[in-house]
Amino acid sequence: MTASSPGTSPGTSPSTADPDDDLAARLRAVHRRIAAAESAAARPVGSVRLLLATKTVPAPPIRAALAAASSLGRPVLLGENRVQELVAKGPELADLHPDVHVIGHLQSNKVNAALRWASCVETVDTPDLADRLGERAARAGQLLDVLVQVNVSGEATKYGVEPADAVPLAVRVAAVEGLRLRGLMTVGARSPDDAVVRAGYALLRRLRDDVVASGAPGTSDATALSMGMSGDLEAAVAEGATLVRVGSAVFGARAPAAAP
Ligand SMILES: *Cc1c(COP(=O)(O)O)cnc(C)c1O
Repeated sequence: MTASSPGTSPGTSPSTADPDDDLAARLRAVHRRIAAAESAAARPVGSVRLLLATKTVPAPPIRAALAAASSLGRPVLLGENRVQELVAKGPELADLHPDVHVIGHLQSNKVNAALRWASCVETVDTPDLADRLGERAARAGQLLDVLVQVNVSGEATKYGVEPADAVPLAVRVAAVEGLRLRGLMTVGARSPDDAVVRAGYALLRRLRDDVVASGAPGTSDATALSMGMSGDLEAAVAEGATLVRVGSAVFGARAPAAAP
């Protein structure tokens, strides 16, 4: 719902008249969860950055979230899954200069639009996509940050390179002109078993360590681990996430997607 929608949504306290106040409260709650997870893992508070996953969320609540984040003194990143949404919302958010990452599967023919609005593509999972991104970035005189997406759970519905191929692909991507490899990303296992979820995140951390330890050209900055969402960010922070991607815990539940 947007700031201009009449009435209150179910589950919202009737005394909370302004939906932007709810949003700010949910954002603070997510920051508290991250801080508690950092402490539990004996990691420095503030070592995990927050990216707000904004798929299906219109521009006004995103603007409210950015405003709430900056008034907390905790700037956030934004993440879009679909280039179509990136392009539609980009102009509506441009005055706030958000730092936007692509976090969904990127088709090669959408590379130009992605480069126009995003500072980082987190979903590189083939040499072809890396080459195309690098070529466009270099031609535009840009250096584009990228992460290599790894499918740690092996679930067939998920994008990402197989774990066994992750280090060779990362080394290959790190050498592409126009790109700067910043680390690895994954979408965690869809499992009610916390141990299964954590094992996937631990695997991504070991792969990241192997990439950096390879000493290959361009891998020394590949320290980022983008992992963890609304339901499992604690497990991800425990396993070393440097960036968690949170949508529903801040913006509320999304309508079920029409197609996978
Ligand atoms: C939607 C999405 C998220 C956030 O998921 P929530 O469960 O809403 O926090 C994170 N990462 C990716 C890639 C997503 O598509």
